[in-house]
Amino acid sequence: MSTLNEKVEASAFEEVNQRVRVAADVLGISSEIVSAIVPCEREVVVSLPLRRDDGSIDVLTGYRIQHSSARGPRKGGIRFHEHVNLDEVRALASLMTWKTALLDVPFGGAKGGVTVDPRTLSVREHEELIRRWTRTIVHVLGPHRDIPAPDMGTTAQTMAWLMDEYHRLEGFQPACVTGKPVALFGAPGREEATGRGVIGVAVAALERRKQSVKGVNVVIQGFGNVGRFAALAAIEAGMKVIAISDITGAIHQQRGIDFSDIADKFTVASLRSKNEIDPASILSLEADVLIPAALGGVVTDEIAAKVNAPLLIEAANQPVTAGGDAILRARGIEVVPDILANAGGVLGSYFEWTQNIQEFRWPISRFRDELDARMAGAFKTVADTASEHDCSLRDAAFVVAVGRVVESFLLRGQVV
Ligand code: NAD
Repeated sequence: MSTLNEKVEASAFEEVNQRVRVAADVLGISSEIVSAIVPCEREVVVSLPLRRDDGSIDVLTGYRIQHSSARGPRKGGIRFHEHVNLDEVRALASLMTWKTALLDVPFGGAKGGVTVDPRTLSVREHEELIRRWTRTIVHVLGPHRDIPAPDMGTTAQTMAWLMDEYHRLEGFQPACVTGKPVALFGAPGREEATGRGVIGVAVAALERRKQSVKGVNVVIQGFGNVGRFAALAAIEAGMKVIAISDITGAIHQQRGIDFSDIADKFTVASLRSKNEIDPASILSLEADVLIPAALGGVVTDEIAAKVNAPLLIEAANQPVTAGGDAILRARGIEVVPDILANAGGVLGSYFEWTQNIQEFRWPISRFRDELDARMAGAFKTVADTASEHDCSLRDAAFVVAVGRVVESFLLRGQVV
C-alpha cells in the first residue's frame, strides 16, 4: 500500500514546512521551488501481520517515508511507538533532510516506524517485526538508497537483526543500517555522539560569546543517552555540571557533581544525596548553560519566563514551545536549536556508514575529533548566518539547510 502526500491540516509536517517557507523567503527562493522541495519523494505504508507469542495475529502498520534524496541516500531512524502515524513520520523525515544538510553530510532525509507499543513485544516478536518490516520494504532500502538507524523503541540489537535480514535478501552490506552494536560493524563513539555533540555546540556558543568554557555552570534535565553523555563531555571540557534530573528526581551541587564513582550505573537515584531538589525547579536554576535533554515541550511560556541562564541548548527534540521560544528571545536568552544541537547522532551515523563502506575502523579518538570539529563548524555557519540575516539561530539553521538542499536539487536537475 502506498499514499502520496495526502492533505493534512494543522500537522507536525506542516509546522516543519512553515519553517522551510520562512527560510526560503529569506533566501529569495521562489514558491514554485518551495512547492517542489516540501513534499516527500516517496511514501511507503505497509501492513505487517505479526504472530504474537499467544498464537493471535496483530496486523500492524509500518512506514518508510523518504523525504529527499537531493543530497544523497536518504537517512533516518525507525521507531516503534504506539503514536507513530503518517503525519509524524513525514515531519520527522523532512526534519532529517534539513538536519543532514545543515551538518553537510552526504545524505537526504527519511524516517520509518511501526505503530506498536514496544513494551508489549517479546524479544521474539520484536525481532520478527523488524525482519518483516525489512523484507517488506527492502526494495527501497540499501547503503546507497536509504539507511535506517535506531530511534524510540528500537535499539542496536534491532539494527543487528535488520542488517542480518538485509544480508539474507541482498548480500552482505553492513552500511545498509547504522547504530549497530560495536561488535557487529558499529562505530566506537556513536553511542555517545549526540551528547558529545551537544557539548560541542555549547563550547562553540560560549567561545563566540567570548566566555571561558572552564568552570561554567551547566544544568542538565534528563540523564538518558543524551543527558549522561552530555554530562560526561561537559566535565571533559572543563565545565561544572551543577544539577541534573531524571524521571526519578533531581540533584543540585553548586561545587559540581562528581560522576566518577558511579561508573555506568547512571541514574539520578544512584547519586541521591542531601542535595536533592524539586525536579520541577531544575529549568529555573541559575546557571551559565541550561540543557533540556529529556522531553519535548518542557520550556513553556511559564517556564521560559523563569529560565535563569543566558544560553539554552536544545538537546531534546523540541523542548521549547513556540510561545516559550518567543519569550526567551524577548529576554535575550540565546537558544541553540535542536536541529543543530542534537545532530551529533546523525554525524555519528555518517561516520559509521563511511567506515562500513571503506571497511576500515577508526579509533575512537578520530571519531571524537571529527565530531567535535564538525559540530563547531556547523555552529559557526549557523551563527554567521544569523548575524548576516539578523535572525534567530533556529531560523538561520533552516536558512543554511534549505539553501543547500535547493542548490543540490537544482544542480542535479530534479525538476524535469
Ligand atoms: P532516554 O530515554 O535515553 O532518556 C530520557 C531521560 O529523560 C531519562 O533520563 C529519563 O529519566 C528522563 N526523563 C523522563 N521524564 C522526565 C521528567 N519528567 N523530568 C526529568 N527527566 C525526565 O532518551 P534520549 O535518547 O536521551 O533522548 C532524550 C531526548 O533527546 C529526546 O527528546 C530524543 O528525541 C532526543 N534525541 C535523542 C537522540 C539520541 O541519539 N538518543 C538524538 C536526537 C534527539
